[in-house]
Amino acid sequence: NLRTHYTAEVKPESVDNGQKITLAGWIHEVRDLGGICFVVLRDREGKAQVTLVKKKIDKELFDAARRLIRESVISVTGSVKFEEKAPNGYELLPEEIKVLNVAGSPLPMDTTGKVEAELDTRLDSRFIDLRRAETTAVFKIRHEALQAIREYFVKNKFIETATPKVVATATEGGTALFPITYFDREAFLNQSPQLFKQILMGGGFDRVFEIGPIFRAEEHDTRRHLNEATSIDVEVSFADHFDVMEILENLVAHIYTRVIENCKASLEILGVELKVPKTPFLKLTYDEVIEIVNSRCEEKMHWGDDLGTLGEHTVGNYVYETTGESHYFIIDWPTEIKPFYAMPYEDRPEFSKSFDMMHRTMELSSGAQRIHISELLKSRIESQGLNPDGFEFYLKAFEYGMPPHAGWGMGCERFVMTMLGTENIRDTVLFPRDRRRLSP
Ligand code: ATP
Ligand code: MG
Ligand code: MG
Ligand code: MG
Repeated sequence: NLRTHYTAEVKPESVDNGQKITLAGWIHEVRDLGGICFVVLRDREGKAQVTLVKKKIDKELFDAARRLIRESVISVTGSVKFEEKAPNGYELLPEEIKVLNVAGSPLPMDTTGKVEAELDTRLDSRFIDLRRAETTAVFKIRHEALQAIREYFVKNKFIETATPKVVATATEGGTALFPITYFDREAFLNQSPQLFKQILMGGGFDRVFEIGPIFRAEEHDTRRHLNEATSIDVEVSFADHFDVMEILENLVAHIYTRVIENCKASLEILGVELKVPKTPFLKLTYDEVIEIVNSRCEEKMHWGDDLGTLGEHTVGNYVYETTGESHYFIIDWPTEIKPFYAMPYEDRPEFSKSFDMMHRTMELSSGAQRIHISELLKSRIESQGLNPDGFEFYLKAFEYGMPPHAGWGMGCERFVMTMLGTENIRDTVLFPRDRRRLSP
């Protein structure tokens, strides 16, 4: 057996003093003080100190230990000695150290945290970077967030779906797509599951969610855009935009609650203190947002403009200063700047039943009540300069009993990024895809 315990599982509650255990992991550090040698073993859950006293143990074992090479893979069997002064409250007195694989040197990057590496260096040697406790912590929290999301949706009677990522039509225009070759035809990587989740409403699924990749040929290089991102998507029948905003804010609160409960160690490693956002979130109308921006910002915003980065920060800070909360909604956007499927208000069709859910620093989600009336949908597609012929497979679903419905999409990476205060979205993806980066 190469491992009986993770380092973090060795606690007086569950392990006896003197008990024989086996740890497995990487050599974090070897400190050879002559008469005594400390080998720090690191695994996914933490670190443990293996202590070798020259006078007390086999000479061969002692000599082998002091020659161990950093980041090599080992399995150590020995007895536990609880010791307050040791880094994790115990040390392991080894009987056997198996070297399972020797690491080359020098290492492509430092793992001890003593040298701060650039993001690019870290991403180039991601396999080493992932061994750092700070990096692991981000992905453990991301994992917990995704578990919380599934738990929330299952509890609320949603069906999890998987829609195709290789598609024939551009979803919504606007965003640039990645063309691919599909046998002898042109196809694209899907930018959003939008059209398919709406078809599922026509299929009577009522409440669906999907967690999957979206692809966008974003030309610009920002800290919050990826070319391959993970989208959390929701569509609900017999619902309007207010209904799905409520689902969204409750989901956000649920994720924070679960992460606070279950990720204490990871949050501590990252130095992040979370508080559950207060629901319901503040709702500002698009018109109110224009006023806030124009009264506080040099860069003026006109009716029909999307919110720029400066605008996002201005409004976000305004909300934070007045309410102490980071999350809020911007509702009632001009119909012309939202996708064709957003439902216009009957009495003022220049406004749509749409919303963005914002964090103080950036947009997290966009959603709307959708158009479920075939004729209106066709005319909206045309007035956005798109050709309805390309949407036949979609439009057909609206002619034989499509219920009213609403939904939203939220970027998983942006959510994690804002929750943890990460500087760059690339920190929240294992292997980010951006303009320059296609491997690893
Ligand atoms: P932005 O205005 O920030 O470019 P968007 O309005 O183009 O975002 P939507 O089409 O509304 O994005 O997509 C829904 C959500 O998906 C966004 O709110 C965001 O969280 C996420 N998202 C969109 N594009 C990207 C991207 N390139 N990288 C990471 N996440 C993205
Ligand atoms: Mg965009
Ligand atoms: Mg946007
Ligand atoms: Mg948006």
